[in-house]
Amino acid sequence: MKARSKITLWTASFTLTVAICFSSLVFYELVEQPFRVIDDELQDIAEVAAQAVNSDTPQGKQDNTLSRYPYDKYWIKVVSDQGITLLASPMTRYVDIPAHSDKKFSFVRKNLPLEKLWLAPEDHSERKNIPASPVVFRVLTDRKVINGKVFELQVANPIPFLVHELSELVYYILAGLVLITIIAIAVSYYLAGKILQPLASINNLIKNISDNSLDQRIPLGKNKDELYILTRSLNSMFDRLQFSFNRQKEFIGNASHELKSPLTILMLGHEEMLAGELPQTVRTGLEKHLTTLRRLSKLVRNLLEISRLEQQETLRHETIHLHELIDHVLDEFKDLLQSRNIVLEKDLSPVTFVGDAEKILQMVINLVDNAIKYNAPENGQIWIATQKTRECIRLTIANTGPIIPEQDLPKVFEQFFRVERSRSANFGGSGLGLTIVQQIVELHQGTISVTSSAEGITRFTVDFPLPISSS
Ligand code: ADP
Repeated sequence: MKARSKITLWTASFTLTVAICFSSLVFYELVEQPFRVIDDELQDIAEVAAQAVNSDTPQGKQDNTLSRYPYDKYWIKVVSDQGITLLASPMTRYVDIPAHSDKKFSFVRKNLPLEKLWLAPEDHSERKNIPASPVVFRVLTDRKVINGKVFELQVANPIPFLVHELSELVYYILAGLVLITIIAIAVSYYLAGKILQPLASINNLIKNISDNSLDQRIPLGKNKDELYILTRSLNSMFDRLQFSFNRQKEFIGNASHELKSPLTILMLGHEEMLAGELPQTVRTGLEKHLTTLRRLSKLVRNLLEISRLEQQETLRHETIHLHELIDHVLDEFKDLLQSRNIVLEKDLSPVTFVGDAEKILQMVINLVDNAIKYNAPENGQIWIATQKTRECIRLTIANTGPIIPEQDLPKVFEQFFRVERSRSANFGGSGLGLTIVQQIVELHQGTISVTSSAEGITRFTVDFPLPISSS
């Protein structure tokens, strides 16, 4: 899960929890108060009713003390210990509320039309808003002993308006919670995005810093906050990386340079010795050494070339006639092509552009050399073409031969990568040829890609985007 979503989730959950706790507290406080008043009232009525039936007044007759409550408003029943009903309010005729022995206060739902209820003047207008559902009663069940007589009392108060208001309150609280959640999600998502935005831009900048652009640094922000410290630490890490990278490159360059001359001297010495009279065993040994020395020398030259290209030493700006340059290279390889019976097909449109002629020559040599080296042993073919489109100058070179597996295609440009180590080593390859080609192409702001079809045709495409000074 993304950090932004996590922060949003945490903040929204926290806000929702706080909102639920707060609204529960408010709800409790709002509900507790009216029920306390109702219960006190029920207790009071029970007391008065018990007194009324005890003063030997006729059964069901309203006592003076009871008249201080709207008698019709309540459901009142007083029963003697012999089970004789001593007092019953008019509402007992419409609805029966069974006695609750275990609980003093309870709720009962009963079907009773609102017309049968005594309503306070202010409740009349409210009546139409109450749904025609069962009426809720708050019930008091009590027993009183007065002057040795036992009275079973049951007093109930219909509270449809209170229940209606409470359900409205619950509805508003729930709607409020949903709204708070939506607002919390939107606000925290926005804020998380704002907080994380500098991290995203730092991340983008880091992604852009490659081994070719290690000199780039992340700009420091104005505020000296945690991000400022992070950026500074990253920049100093890049300083150290760049330093050791450069040291490494310098070392490879210097080592290759130092090895080049002794290797050349050794090769010349071997060639001189082989030119003279020698016993066969010595000759065979020297020839083997010379082959190894040539391979070593090629490796050292390639390493030196890579080191030079990486240091991006001055790129010359010369007019290159690519079609002519390719023709010249193919001419050089003519004998090799013939000896391997490779059929060459070329389609060279005249294209001219400005670049480093020596490096472009090296690029073409490496590509043609590979197309011959890795060609099919029989019925080999090479297709080479140049063309100028509206967007770029394109060079394609394709050859028959063993296919490069799909997963290896992006790796062929990596240093020292060889698809088949043994096969490549037989041709004196060290896995640096295409690395050099790619670096030359990139120095000219171009791109190179490779495909290898199931029919065994490998195709390299080099594109130099326009405008590159061309004609
Ligand atoms: P090397 O110097 O060993 O030839 P490269 O960097 O030139 O190394 O090539 C890397 C690998 O890509 C080679 O080992 C080879 O397997 C494969 N490869 C390169 N060019 C071709 C090609 N034209 N046809 C088929 N495979 C190729």
